[in-house]
Amino acid sequence: NETIIKVQNLKKYFPIAKGFLVKKHVGDVKAVDDISFEVKKKETFALVGESGCGKTTAARTMLRLIDPTDGKIEVFGQDISNLTRKELLPFRRKMQIVFQNPIGSLNPRMTIGQILTEPLLFHKIVKNRQEAYDKAVEILRMVGLKPYHMDRYPHQFSGGQKQRIAIARALSVGPEILFLDEPTSALDVSVQAQIINLFLKFQEELDLTYIFISHDLSLVRFISDKVAVMYLGRIVEMGDVDEVFENPIHPYTKALLSASPIPDPKVEKQRKRIILTGNVPNPIARPSGCFFHPRCPFKTEKCEKEYPQMYKISENHQVSCHLVEKEGV
Ligand code: SF4
Repeated sequence: NETIIKVQNLKKYFPIAKGFLVKKHVGDVKAVDDISFEVKKKETFALVGESGCGKTTAARTMLRLIDPTDGKIEVFGQDISNLTRKELLPFRRKMQIVFQNPIGSLNPRMTIGQILTEPLLFHKIVKNRQEAYDKAVEILRMVGLKPYHMDRYPHQFSGGQKQRIAIARALSVGPEILFLDEPTSALDVSVQAQIINLFLKFQEELDLTYIFISHDLSLVRFISDKVAVMYLGRIVEMGDVDEVFENPIHPYTKALLSASPIPDPKVEKQRKRIILTGNVPNPIARPSGCFFHPRCPFKTEKCEKEYPQMYKISENHQVSCHLVEKEGV
């Protein structure tokens, strides 16, 4: 299966400056700190973790909405980490994003027709306004809306319908990769399933590759093939979704899974619960050694001193925790 995205040692640091007249650089928020992974065609790759773990910054950097501090982002075999805005244009078309909040992502002063035809004209996908209109109507139908909706404004739609419009806009330019940033968490539970089914349908029909950002582990398990668990800017566990969820090794992954209900009571019974205590530490002053040690029930002296390397548990499962060495998991 063809590799579509290859991220190597990606870093995104935000500098912090103090002082009123003369700004002095006092440190960095290491939002994304040396992450590497690959995504294959038609796969759904999930980035999970608590808010502030770096998953959204990682996605925005991969899309080049913000510039990386260091590292490589290869898309269809080409490194896009240093491309100019102009050089990025063809990639922008191929990589689209659907945001969490459809209200903020749709211009309230534009009709749905304008919202959908604008990217078609901008990327010169169609020759004229009539063709743009016809294509927009076709896409609107694909997401379950009607042609008469073209003349309406975003505020005339429900949350679920707005998200359908945002999906239509993302799909209109013919992307191959879709970034889904918590795309259902602002919606009513009853609507969430409809939107998820829409994503699954389009993935099948249009051969789409998804980068799915979420904190909802039940949903991640349901729709993803691979998962990377992030904590304070780093990936702490990664692999095939079934393997990671059935045999989680990192105490943080276990804790996240403990907090998420599992529909199967048998699995629920066998599972030892780890309850997360404390909040995510300050990303400006991350803890020494393993960043998770202040919250980890299994920490040892080594954990306070050394950041654990990434261990390969199997072909499709990696984890960064000293327990692997100690217990030979
Ligand atoms: Fe816990 Fe140590 Fe593993 Fe970190 S390295 S998760 S502190 S056991």
